[in-house]
Amino acid sequence: MFIRNQSVCESEMEVDRTVRVKLDVPDERHDDLHQTIQQFQTAVNYTVDHGENDDGYLITNKSTIHDKVYHDLRDETDLPANLVVRSYSKAVEMLKSTVEDWKNGNSRPLPTFDQPTVVYDKRTLTIKDEYATLSTVNGRVEADFLLGEYQRSYLDADDYEKRMGELHYDPDTDTFYLHIVVRKEVEQRDGDRVLGVDLNLKNVAVTSTGRFFDGGELLWGQNHYFRVRRSLQDKGTRSARQALERLSGRETRFVLDRLHNISRGIMEEALRHDCSFIAVEDLTHIRERMDAHDDRLRRQMHNWAFRELQEQIAYKASEYGIRVESVNPAFSSQTCSQCGHQSSTNRDPETGWFECSECGYGVDGDYNASKNVGLRLLAVPSGKRPDGLGTGQLALKSGTLNVSDTSSVYSSLEFERESTDKPTASAVGS
Ligand SMILES: [Zn+2]
Repeated sequence: MFIRNQSVCESEMEVDRTVRVKLDVPDERHDDLHQTIQQFQTAVNYTVDHGENDDGYLITNKSTIHDKVYHDLRDETDLPANLVVRSYSKAVEMLKSTVEDWKNGNSRPLPTFDQPTVVYDKRTLTIKDEYATLSTVNGRVEADFLLGEYQRSYLDADDYEKRMGELHYDPDTDTFYLHIVVRKEVEQRDGDRVLGVDLNLKNVAVTSTGRFFDGGELLWGQNHYFRVRRSLQDKGTRSARQALERLSGRETRFVLDRLHNISRGIMEEALRHDCSFIAVEDLTHIRERMDAHDDRLRRQMHNWAFRELQEQIAYKASEYGIRVESVNPAFSSQTCSQCGHQSSTNRDPETGWFECSECGYGVDGDYNASKNVGLRLLAVPSGKRPDGLGTGQLALKSGTLNVSDTSSVYSSLEFERESTDKPTASAVGS
């Protein structure tokens, strides 16, 4: 997904967007771009192949690599100096992630760079309103942009700085694309209020402010497209496979559209309640929540959709300077958000109703879980807390919930105050 948010200082965050722009390249310059792509690949792979030092360790330091390969690459390719730098930098990235994998016990072989892609920076790429010029093995190539409204909205915006870019070639359509990275600095939202969000199968999302995003039957494998897909998959014939391909595009758009409505709704909720943080579940745990009888197709669908929804939330939140933090949701559905008591008997798996066996608190189970997700973020110990969270308070349907001692373990948290928190169902707007 095209997003990377990073804290630059305490009050600002960088928001990067990648805008994919179709290029209109003059016919007689196609070959220059193809040659550049090919030689860039060669240069990256040459660097990876020479990325070991004498002791057999991989080199992850750019200036060491530079000394080792720069002159070879200049001699053996037609790439201009700055593209040579980008190519060995790309190789260093790949070497670094290989080292990381090896450290984690994954002994994969050295990577190969086989993408039809060239990495550009400010010295090798000039971006104008309607066109760009790119360094190639044969001088600069000028290519016009073929822009849609979406791309234009980012490229025309003054607050976005256009930075790096990547040239991509799509062999299926014989088309060149420029992926332009635009960046703006967004003021982090002040305040320490947290919106808790629970993702689940019955309701797609529930917020600690009591908003329920329904639409489960649309998303989770009961919709028309899903049923057709399943029957086509069962057939397995060639025509069924073709029909399946056409369908998967339509189904994806259909689900994405629903997810966008939900992530928009969550953002409305965060803004309405003046939240500066959104707490979501760490996705590695989502899998555990799925029913054992779910089939593979359905699981894949869930995994993909949950991930997509979280990315959409992060993407939209960053526009407002709202930070999205993930928390460990273990037992969030079994724990009482009122008294902290945890028991597997607290939640009725059939009805989804939560009733605390300790204090008697009774509430919709997904709503209870959404409050727990928010409370987990408030309970993060001081050394690991996100900047600016302060003491923190959880946004509820009306009012907030404060945690008096956030350094103690979650189950022993004391709650100072709680307002009414009865949830109301609200349909997803379209
Ligand atoms: Zn309780």
